[in-house]
Order: sequence, then structure tokens, then C-alpha cells
Amino acid sequence: MDALPPAPAPPAAASGTAPRAHDDVLATLRALRAADPPTHGGRVLSYVYDPGRPDLDELAAAAARLFQPVNGLDPTTFRSVARLERDLVALARDVLHGDGDVVGSVTSGGTESCLLAVKAARDAWRVARAADAPAHASHHGPGPRAPAGRARLVIPTTAHPAFRKAAHYLDLDLVEVPVDPATGAVAADALLAAVRAQADRTALVVVSAPSYPYGALDPVADVAAGAAALGVACHVDACLGGWVLPWWPEPLPPWDLAVPGVTSVSADLHKFGYTPKGASVLLHRGRQRHRHQYFATKGWPGYPVVNATVLGSRAAGPLAAAWAVTRALGPEGYAALTAQAHRATCRVRAAVGATDGLRVVGAPVGPVLAVGADVAAVPAARVDPFRWVDALRARGWLAQCQPALAQADGTRLPRTAHLTLTAVSESVVDALVRDLGAAADDVRGAPPAEADLALAATVAQGDLPDRLATVMATLEALPAELVEPLLVEVLARVVDPDA
Ligand SMILES: *Cc1c(COP(=O)(O)O)cnc(C)c1O
Repeated sequence: MDALPPAPAPPAAASGTAPRAHDDVLATLRALRAADPPTHGGRVLSYVYDPGRPDLDELAAAAARLFQPVNGLDPTTFRSVARLERDLVALARDVLHGDGDVVGSVTSGGTESCLLAVKAARDAWRVARAADAPAHASHHGPGPRAPAGRARLVIPTTAHPAFRKAAHYLDLDLVEVPVDPATGAVAADALLAAVRAQADRTALVVVSAPSYPYGALDPVADVAAGAAALGVACHVDACLGGWVLPWWPEPLPPWDLAVPGVTSVSADLHKFGYTPKGASVLLHRGRQRHRHQYFATKGWPGYPVVNATVLGSRAAGPLAAAWAVTRALGPEGYAALTAQAHRATCRVRAAVGATDGLRVVGAPVGPVLAVGADVAAVPAARVDPFRWVDALRARGWLAQCQPALAQADGTRLPRTAHLTLTAVSESVVDALVRDLGAAADDVRGAPPAEADLALAATVAQGDLPDRLATVMATLEALPAELVEPLLVEVLARVVDPDA
């Protein structure tokens, strides 16, 4: 046989592709990490969740190392994976007050949990609707494949973007309900009115416990009861609060699976479960609802496929690490870490409240705060939250800018700064309180950061300035139709080998 094509030439030896000694490879990785913001020590006030316990990091690393080669794709082959997942689901069910009717899955993170909550609700809705209208279902019989029209997903403006993503990926109509601009809280009546407007098309209504932007604990009991009366599923997004509110040392209204009418709950292990990234739990009330989360096919010539989650091959390392950390801490350990985060949050909240020109927005529940300009103060005494974030950054603290937002009803949510406190925050809270006041002094009375269109052009060229206030003000001012493609471009260039 001489018809084989010639072997391709080996790729040109681009710099850095020759084999390298392992030590050398690791040295490069260490250098890259050294340039990152510190993931430990409480200086980064979002993204990372540090219990301040190096022993837990070591345990998690050892557990992940043990499970590194395992594929979670098939828990009937790797029985260890099934055991770890069962244990985590059982623990989450206890913590979140589910009964024996509650089952679920471990996912790769909050976004995947939220996507799957929507997927399960959509498919449950399709089946119920096909059963209600048999004429619709004549082709395939009742089942998720039966044509049933588009489902609706009702969310407060403050729901996590994972639900917008779910509507986008899974083709649901998204209905956004404005929140109170003074507090960031959504009214149960407003959410239920949106559900009622087309209850028969509504697959799911979402509430947060608490919301990321403001820490608002949504009115779970009222929404769940109202939704249940209309035959609509209700998801509680406790990605942020699921492993901290159960031990929060303040009385809270019920928000978890103890509430009748709550049909699913998401709770991230990799946030206040203090486990490494790549672990979240999604629980459903009712085994049938859980089954709607799955995908199975035998329609290809390979192995029969059953996937509980979005991914195929699944890393088992984060699962093992989460299992190890949750076993090592136990509820008592979480209660202690939560008490630390609570004390830090109370200190920071009081300090912000006592700082001229700043205010805490709304009534946050849990260890997150939104900080806005004090609109009751005269302009010369106000502190612009974006300028404050830059001043904090200059003092070694990373807070997040949250741009102002016009809601569907014409009201405007103010620009704010977001702070997440964790257990480790208590150990640095004196410095944080001092520096947040000093940062406010640095910028008090300066006019709010304004948009700069020339800057938008340089950002589009991939030039990310260090001072964020103007960038954020620019993103805030431009319409979403311009900003969203711009953000895509910037982030795509960051990883483009030729950019
Ligand atoms: C973090 C978060 C999510 C999404 O979680 P990821 O793990 O970042 O994908 C969803 N909802 C809320 C309220 C969150 O805080």
C-alpha cells in the first residue's frame, strides 16, 4: 500500500516546546502563581474562600492527589466515586433539612448546579404539559422530547447570572423581576405576579439565599408557597449561603428544604464549604425530579451513556477533597468557621456604616456586603464606591465593582462595591477596618468615576488598566449590546496565542 499520505512534518520548534525538566516546569508555574493575588490571608474579598486552616488545604490536596487518576464518568466502575457522592448528598440533605424524599448530585460548581436545576425543571414541566395536552404529544408519547413550547424561567434581577446562562443554553424565556433599589430585596408578591402572568408556561421560579450582589435573603417561604399553589417549581439558590447560613448565629426565616414548596436547592461546597474549586451540591425534592436532571442515550455505537451532570469525564479530585474537608470539619467545624466569618462581617459592616460617605446597601444576611455611596450625605462628603475599590486596592485589598443597573421598571440599582468575608477575615479584620476607613478618606468628595470612551477603545485592544474605577464606569455607561461583545473580545484575547 503506497496510498498513505506522507507523514506531516513535525511542528516548528516554537520557543518553549522542547521537553523540560520537571523542576523547571514547576518553577515556571510557581513564578506564574507568585504574580497572582494572594489566595490566602483574606486580602481578596471575592473569588476565594479561605478558612485560614493550612491543615485543611493539606488534607484536600492529599485527597485530590489520591483521586487524581479516577474518572467520575462511571460510578459503577469506580465505586469509590459513588460512595463519596452519596455521602456528600446525604450530608447536604441533613444540613439543608431535606427528608428521605430528597436526593441529588455533586456537580463541578454553582453554575452547573443552577443549569441542572433549570434543566430538570424544564423537563419536568414538559412532561407535565405533554400529559395535560395529549394531542401535543402524539408523535413521541409523553416525555421530554414531546413538543411543548417554550418554558419560562422567573428570576429576580439579583439572581446569579448562571440562570441567565441556563435560559440561554436551554432555550427558556427569561422573566426578570425588579428588586427594591433601596435594599436590593425582591418582594414575594412581585415574583408571584410574574409567575401568575403565565403560570402554565412557567417551569421554575428562583429565589436566592442569599443573593450575591446584596446578600439579600429572598422571601423563600412566601414564594415557595405561592409557586406550589400554582403548580410551579421553586429553586432556592444557596450556592453562596448553603454552607454558612445553616450555622449563622442570627435568627433567620426558614429558607431551605424545610420550607414546603421548595423543589430544589443548590449549595456550593467550593465557597463556604471551604473545599477546593470544582464542587457543589444540587438537591431535588422527589426522585422523579432528580431523574429529569439526567441524560441517557444508547444511540451511538459506543458504550451506553448515562450522565448525571453536564460533563462526561469528570474529575474526582474535587469530589474527594470535598469529602475529606467536610468529614474533617463536621457540623461543629463549620459552626466555628461560621462564627469567625460572622464576627468579621459584623465588624466590617459596622465600620462601613460608621464611615462618612459610605453605607451598606439593604440588610445583608450572611458574610457578604454591598457598599454604596451614602446618598444622604452632601456630595462633598460622599465616597464613590468605584474610587473606593481602587483606593482599597492601593492598600492591598481586592474588592469587586458592581456597576449600576437600570431595571425593567425603570428604577436604577446604584453602583456598589462587593465584599465577601470568610473565616480567615477575622484574623485581618483590624487591618481591614483601618484601611477601609483610610481608603474612604483618600477619595471622599471626589466626583463619581465617569465613563471614558477612549478608554473603552484601549480596553478593546487588550490593555487592562490597573485603576478600575474608570473602566467600570465606562462599562456601566455603555449599553449591554456594546459591552457584552467587548467583554468577550477582551477575555478571548487574554488566551489567544497570537494576541
Ligand atoms: C457563586 C454563585 C453561583 C455560581 O457558582 P459558581 O460556583 O461560581 O459557578 C450561583 N449563585 C450564587 C448566589 C453564587 O454566589
